[in-house]
Amino acid sequence: MSQPTHPTFPAATILGYPRIGPRRELKRALESFWSGTTTETDLATAAAGLRERTRTHLTDLGLDPQTAAIPSDFSYYDQVLSTAVAVGAIPERFGIDASASINLADYSRLARGDAETAPLELTKWFDTNYHYLVPEIGPDTPLQYVPGSGPVAEFVEAKEAGVHTRPVVVGPVTLLALAKGTDPLARLDELVAAFQKLLVELAETGATWVQFDEPALVSDNGTIPAAQLNDAADRAYRALAATADRPGILVAAPYGDLRERFATLAGTGVEAIALDLVKGEIPDDGALAQARGLTLVAGLVDGHNVWRTDLHAAAERLQRLRTAHDGPVSVATSTSLLHVPHTVADETDLPEQLRSWLAFADEKVGEVLALTAGPEAAAEAFAASRTVRADRASAPGVRREDVRRRTGALTAADTERADASARAAAQQERLNLPPLPTTTIGSFPQTSDLRRARAQRRKGEISDEQYTEVIRGEIARVIELQTELGLDVLVHGEPERNDMVQYFAELLDGFAVTQHGWVQSYGSRCTRPSILWGDVSRPAPMTVEWTRYAASLTGKPVKGMLTGPVTILAWSFVRDDLPLGEVADQVALALRDEVADLEGAGIGVIQVDEPALRELLPLRAEQHQAYLDWSVRSFRLATSGAAPHTQVHTHLCYSEFGEVIDAIDGLGADVTSLEAARSAMEVVPELAQAGFSRGIGPGVWDIHSPRVPSTEEIVDLLGRALAAVPAQQLWVNPDCGLKTRGYDETTASLRNLVAATERVRAAL
Ligand code: GLN
Ligand code: ZN
Repeated sequence: MSQPTHPTFPAATILGYPRIGPRRELKRALESFWSGTTTETDLATAAAGLRERTRTHLTDLGLDPQTAAIPSDFSYYDQVLSTAVAVGAIPERFGIDASASINLADYSRLARGDAETAPLELTKWFDTNYHYLVPEIGPDTPLQYVPGSGPVAEFVEAKEAGVHTRPVVVGPVTLLALAKGTDPLARLDELVAAFQKLLVELAETGATWVQFDEPALVSDNGTIPAAQLNDAADRAYRALAATADRPGILVAAPYGDLRERFATLAGTGVEAIALDLVKGEIPDDGALAQARGLTLVAGLVDGHNVWRTDLHAAAERLQRLRTAHDGPVSVATSTSLLHVPHTVADETDLPEQLRSWLAFADEKVGEVLALTAGPEAAAEAFAASRTVRADRASAPGVRREDVRRRTGALTAADTERADASARAAAQQERLNLPPLPTTTIGSFPQTSDLRRARAQRRKGEISDEQYTEVIRGEIARVIELQTELGLDVLVHGEPERNDMVQYFAELLDGFAVTQHGWVQSYGSRCTRPSILWGDVSRPAPMTVEWTRYAASLTGKPVKGMLTGPVTILAWSFVRDDLPLGEVADQVALALRDEVADLEGAGIGVIQVDEPALRELLPLRAEQHQAYLDWSVRSFRLATSGAAPHTQVHTHLCYSEFGEVIDAIDGLGADVTSLEAARSAMEVVPELAQAGFSRGIGPGVWDIHSPRVPSTEEIVDLLGRALAAVPAQQLWVNPDCGLKTRGYDETTASLRNLVAATERVRAAL
């Protein structure tokens, strides 16, 4: 069979670009459409404007507008959902005709659900803080290409505007590896057939290259067993490459190393493979021999972090790849730039020196172009890269001897507490809690008054004293409400926190926060990760005053609330010049001091949240243990200074605990609360089976929706939990914090939670 011929792949490209807009324009357009204040046409017009801006902007930055160097990777909500919709994979319960183009109201319904229909499940995308919608591909889900799909329409739109783009879709193997259903692989051939039709339609409209994102191929964690991924990739890409009329195929493998799957892909007949050379290695000579003649796209500029690239080191690796590989080599980012903010130029409040070390999306495009041009043609950029690195290495605060001495002196004893049963006895004597103690996870609803007060304080419109009054007033209200509801362990409600990580980042040395550094988390939701740039220390207590005030208002125990080291790392941009485990220890020591100060203020219960413990789990199974070792150690380091009579809680929120179940036990917390309501308490028997013997608080209220759980429902959930663990182990609490909920549903739900607990207690 003769190979179709394709124009050369562009020398410089990026794998994707932020789509939310430099001022979160897409967020606003989506939310006003959802609230009914604008129409579908308004939303479509706003999105087209953003795409136009991106194309023009990337052209101005220097990407070639004529050779498929500019990706078209727009999505209204999520690229996984958009690809699923393009191949008609729409679950029946939505009642949407999957064979026709979908309107934006229906598209939104898939992502957000409605009164009768639950939305698709939302979960984390590989080892990032981006969330995708889980496709549901069961034995009967329709799979058929929808002509005129998003990727085609976006290509045509760009072409009419004079820009020849490269459509980007999620590849078939990844789509199935992420899907829920019976046997995902059983549908591979049908799915590939749908993608073939997409290829044909793209070729007809004149597309010369298409990008299939296949991060599942660098991972062992998906629903497809690792041993079957190679086969799946082989089968899928052989078939796609055999499509008669089609654009050139680039398979992109961001977030890790393809390993043996590289040679597999190279043998399928695709024309190009994009390698993540920030996380992964240059393939060895044997593997490269399989790829002779193929275009390799070298992902040398980190798409997932914010530091300026060491251009000399990257150029040296590029040269090595060029020498070793018999075929064209292009330069790109390692991943889509979706994970970084738009531009450093917007960050006028950051210290000038720190700013000079950073590269966000736009600056990374510049780095790709500099690498492509090489050290001579781009002499200035290379020289600047060297200066910046030297500056960063020697800047005050990057390395602090006092911090290093402290981490250097740590021993195993620093991560040990007294025996768990002795602790339990001491705590019960101090706290005197009833069976099945009730509590909440920390935050209470964040009202618009609170948001306004924080903004006014930031702008200097109210004094620190006035601000303190507002927050104290809120704490008093929340304590009163919890007292009235009859909860056993109270919280102060976290009204002073804009975000559970940023709040601490603003108070710790070694961190900086941005003004406009928004990154899409899912749909219209964005986060503004802090930047951890130097050695971390705690100049002053961070939470003690608020917690002490709350405790002064009640005779019941008040739980102090901290964010754990792993979560602080996971939700920040972290320095790349020190191993993560060491950075985690520094953060842990700062938290350890906070724990000591809370104890000093008389606080007897302290919760250290680690909702991101699972998120940083490496994509390859053989790296799990090393990760779990340092992450668990850092949590223990943060909490092991606590006296035996101080009750340490932790909180984790995701629903599949499988791979981290032993690690949860390893954290050693006296009480662990977890998300469990949607999965009918499944985690409780799992933990019991793993030998977990301390307190467990499986969530009995799914706080992701405004629905109020009934007392009967909660009684039923508690019954399930009690079938797996003895009553002495069980706590009663919601799935997670309440900051996104309103007061009406919060009060009603907590009332039912307490009533259900009383009923179950009476029957014990
Ligand atoms: N304590 C935090 C809260 O209640 C925990 C949030 C989380 O787990 N994501 O908001
Ligand atoms: Zn949570």
